[in-house]
Amino acid sequence: MSHCPWCNTQSEHKVLELKDYFLSQETFHILECPNCHLRYTDPRPATDKIGAYYHSDKYYSHQEAGKGLVAHLYSMVKSVNLKTKFRVAAKGMKSGKLLDIGCGIGDFLLKSKQNGWEVFGIEPDGHARQKASSKLQTEVLRPDEIGTLPNASFDLITMWHVLEHVDDLKAQIGQLHRLLKAEGRLVVALPNFQSYDAAYYADKWAAWDVPRHLNHFCISSIKCIFEERGFRLTEVRGQKWDSYYISFLSEQYRQKRLPLLRGVFRGLISNVKAKRSGDYSSLIYVFSKK
Ligand SMILES: [Zn+2]
Repeated sequence: MSHCPWCNTQSEHKVLELKDYFLSQETFHILECPNCHLRYTDPRPATDKIGAYYHSDKYYSHQEAGKGLVAHLYSMVKSVNLKTKFRVAAKGMKSGKLLDIGCGIGDFLLKSKQNGWEVFGIEPDGHARQKASSKLQTEVLRPDEIGTLPNASFDLITMWHVLEHVDDLKAQIGQLHRLLKAEGRLVVALPNFQSYDAAYYADKWAAWDVPRHLNHFCISSIKCIFEERGFRLTEVRGQKWDSYYISFLSEQYRQKRLPLLRGVFRGLISNVKAKRSGDYSSLIYVFSKK
């Protein structure tokens, strides 16, 4: 028996049993809350144990360009992706103050800084935080320092694939509301378990990424969670590159031959299907304050 990390409703509804294929090979469950439909990882590793599940040199998002074909492709896509992310996040805005939560090594913030934004970052990983701080020439904060930032001080807050890692959703979303200006914009990108590739790969879908991903979202649970805390969902759009990368990793977890080729093919099908359904592999949600 486990409790929903959002609404505390008890649940026994196991949607999937799956392994941490990326690193530990340990088994976890995905549970779905019958009330708010949030899905969550069970068991959740203790706060002081979770760090061990991130220790891998395969964790590209905390790295500068690596070696090999996939790392090379990843860094190429990342550069195109950065431009798209900036264009989508700052759409219709002049420059202002930007906070990127879970900023990694600071590439998105650097891009934004180059476009005239005053940038602030928060990052839990010490190594990544140090890199970001020196790159941006400003001190990037630890997550527990978020409370030191003044109320209503940001025009734009971004969280790129971060909320799925957050243990205390209520505290985090409360901080987002406190920090955002009345006319500000909040941009949150997340994997979508209602996508075609999620259904196709089932327990091998790489974006489950247990136990690093503690929470698993779809459009309706996101809408419910954020609206309850004073936000209005104004836009949902696909993050189209993600379907390829996620499908490629999923093919590796299935131990198929030619995972890159298969992944690109499956990612393409996912994007074509999502054009009609809206359920892309990853979604970018845009919120304003109510
Ligand atoms: Zn719930």
